[in-house]
Amino acid sequence: MDVLKKLRDVKLRPTKQRILLANLILDGKNKHFTAETIQKEVSTKGHNISLATIYNCLNKFVNVGLLKQIDQQGEVTIFDTNVSHHHHFLNQNTGELTDIEPNEITFSKFPKIPRGFQNDGVEVLIKIRD
Ligand SMILES: [Zn+2]
Repeated sequence: MDVLKKLRDVKLRPTKQRILLANLILDGKNKHFTAETIQKEVSTKGHNISLATIYNCLNKFVNVGLLKQIDQQGEVTIFDTNVSHHHHFLNQNTGELTDIEPNEITFSKFPKIPRGFQNDGVEVLIKIRD
């Protein structure tokens, strides 16, 4: 599917930068990346976009459901093109994330959700190292 249609479908104005980033990111493959790695990819293609602008675009993509932001401890925000519900392995040696299908994990015990709140989703991050 072409990225112009993808952007229009979610009512994002197809600016030059959004098109450039969408072409890099939304190619249908499941990917995990940081804004920094995207900036490097952009610059190897001969373009120059500030990190702030890249964050801005990626956050907009998250807001409209084109991307997911992975909750994890630490200061680096990781974005995910697989927006369906799933879990991850985190390779502590490389920082690489690998998807885990949701049906691979079942809970035998689960805490009661505090009164006045609802369960907004559970994402498991299994840390691995060699
Ligand atoms: Zn993922």
